[in-house]
Amino acid sequence: MRAMTTLKGLVLRERSFGENDKFLDILTDGAGLIEVAAKGVKKNNSKNASVAQALSYAEFCLSESGGRFYLNSAEPIRTFFTVSSDIEKFALASYFCEMTLYVATQERSNSEVLRLILNSLHFLCAGTRPNLLLKATFEMRLLSEIGLVPNLIGCCECLRYTDVQMLFDLKGGRLYCENCFGNRDLHGVEMLPEKLLHYIRFLALTDMQKLFNLRADRDYLPHLSNITESYAEIQLGRHFPTLDFYKSLQNGNSL
Ligand SMILES: [Zn+2]
Repeated sequence: MRAMTTLKGLVLRERSFGENDKFLDILTDGAGLIEVAAKGVKKNNSKNASVAQALSYAEFCLSESGGRFYLNSAEPIRTFFTVSSDIEKFALASYFCEMTLYVATQERSNSEVLRLILNSLHFLCAGTRPNLLLKATFEMRLLSEIGLVPNLIGCCECLRYTDVQMLFDLKGGRLYCENCFGNRDLHGVEMLPEKLLHYIRFLALTDMQKLFNLRADRDYLPHLSNITESYAEIQLGRHFPTLDFYKSLQNGNSL
């Protein structure tokens, strides 16, 4: 006996199997990350063909049997396929999906993670935010949402809130003022001028509703993006191939 269920979700990855079928990894609103068997969706006349693709956000009608999900039908809500027309945006979208898949597999996902990736893809398609800012926003906020938010309140020793520059210990996820840092080892430590510290606090801590309203100075974006990327890589202990692909496209004109 199969139970029916309806879930909204974003397809993060599709994998072909057999001649006509696919497995879909879907991040859902109510059930976290699920794997769905989508039979016959590679046939030209399949009614589910367009929805059963990566970057498709839809309401999926599924049947469940023995802990496995099978696709019955789907109602598209929003697709983000237009990023494919721009290789750099496509690379970033792939990176967002790969990171999300990784953290969701670790069972650390929540509904805010789904909201974060949907918003990030929305602005990537809209083209109204610099790519590097979207990358930094996604990286910093994803880490915050899964409980890896750094302690950004102030210097971890004297609680000083701000300084001309502070030092960000990426592994420890904490700040030092120059005075308290003294002559410790600078390995894995980033210098944060006041503006960058403000941006990182904003990305990690502000309400999701306001998250994409940050108007960051473009001159700071490469540095900001490097810091959020290093923080994510160190905290997750993982390097993502899709990030290498994105970086291989840069060639110095990354804005
Ligand atoms: Zn201090």
